[in-house]
Amino acid sequence: MTTLRNCQQFDAQDPLRSLRDQFHLPAGVIYLDGNSLGVLPRTAAARVAEVVTKEWGEGLIRSWNSAGWFEAPQRLGNKIARLIGAGPGEVVATDSTSVNLYKVLSAAFTLAQQDAPQRHKIVSERSNFPTDLYIAQGMCKERGCELQLVEPDGIAAALTPEVAVLMLTHVNYRTGAMHDMAALTAAAHAAGVLTVWDLAHSAGAVPVDLTTARADFAIGCGYKYLNGGPGAPAFVWVNPRHADRFWQPLSGWWGHAAPFAFTPDYQPAPGIGRYLCGTQPMISMAALECGVDSVLAAEAIGGMAALRAKSLTLSDLFIELVESRCAGHGLTLATPRERGRRGSQVCLARAHSAEPSGTSGAYAMIQALIARGVIGDFRAGDGEQPDILRFGFTPLYTRYADVWNAVEQLRQVLQTSEWQAPQFNQQQSVT
Ligand SMILES: *Cc1c(COP(=O)(O)O)cnc(C)c1O
Repeated sequence: MTTLRNCQQFDAQDPLRSLRDQFHLPAGVIYLDGNSLGVLPRTAAARVAEVVTKEWGEGLIRSWNSAGWFEAPQRLGNKIARLIGAGPGEVVATDSTSVNLYKVLSAAFTLAQQDAPQRHKIVSERSNFPTDLYIAQGMCKERGCELQLVEPDGIAAALTPEVAVLMLTHVNYRTGAMHDMAALTAAAHAAGVLTVWDLAHSAGAVPVDLTTARADFAIGCGYKYLNGGPGAPAFVWVNPRHADRFWQPLSGWWGHAAPFAFTPDYQPAPGIGRYLCGTQPMISMAALECGVDSVLAAEAIGGMAALRAKSLTLSDLFIELVESRCAGHGLTLATPRERGRRGSQVCLARAHSAEPSGTSGAYAMIQALIARGVIGDFRAGDGEQPDILRFGFTPLYTRYADVWNAVEQLRQVLQTSEWQAPQFNQQQSVT
């Protein structure tokens, strides 16, 4: 069995170990929640202060030109493009993931219907992240389409001639299971269906190649693995073969071909620019750029392939240690064991009926771990799905010794039953 000493040796030999120095990490904390909110890059506080005091305070409105504010969505988009297999000019950083999903889903649906008006369905996965399903439901109300939810093994069979769009999240937020983007996109195209991929748990976490996969539309999140800060702008990509063919519904002035011509008629900007809506948040953009740069810093030492290799080794280590050291407490692995089928997180499930109270105890276990300085998170199940204890492994700053120590804390929480204490069983508003 792997020992703490082994883990310390892995850390000493880790070619990516210097990347950790880029971040402010609070003392006494092992942070395994970078899949939900990334950590603070050391450059961000000074950069945000500079935007506030110099660019806003002194430059005032001149900074839209002189400080590169106006081009920020494209400049950041070009940086994010390098992480997701997209080309320059194909991505913009803007708005939230939910808002961007509405824009691309609507655009994809319009395109699909132009070619085949009988296609009126959007297919997605039942266990997709709820906001994705809610946005689709809202759009269906407006556009008269129908959302069909299927299980992962039923996706290919659901791609009938009635389907316009296949909308999937590449890495599942609950289980960490990863879809084969290229294979599903090819299946969708063979059935005449366009694809929308949500990369919220992929960008900066796993290698993504939108171009090779021939995907149609993609969106993703700025505050998870991209370390952009709470509520950071998200991003949008559209395959260049659709550029200039699509329309997006939030046709605001920043997506206009000439916003400062102030003409009464909307003329969409060429290419990805039309996915902008209104004025972008420059303070948040500045923080996001620091976060994206912290991931791009890996390019000099192996890039996403090296990050992926370390993420898988960290995850394998966690699985090995949990299974050997935390056995007998009703925790089962909810993430696929096969390396090619998982993202950068490992999830443990606990059945609802595990406790006499009819709860799973998973929430309280996470609370007890957080009290010990090990931060993971909890995702509630329902009648069919078990509750989940979720641990994200961000290879930029997570050490092998952190994994060992986190499992040791989990072992103690379970063995002492301390998680059953009342203070760990009171649910807060954000889990
Ligand atoms: C995190 C996440 C989001 C977040 O959407 P916001 O608009 O930023 O709140 C959306 N979709 C998926 C799949 C996510 O994992």
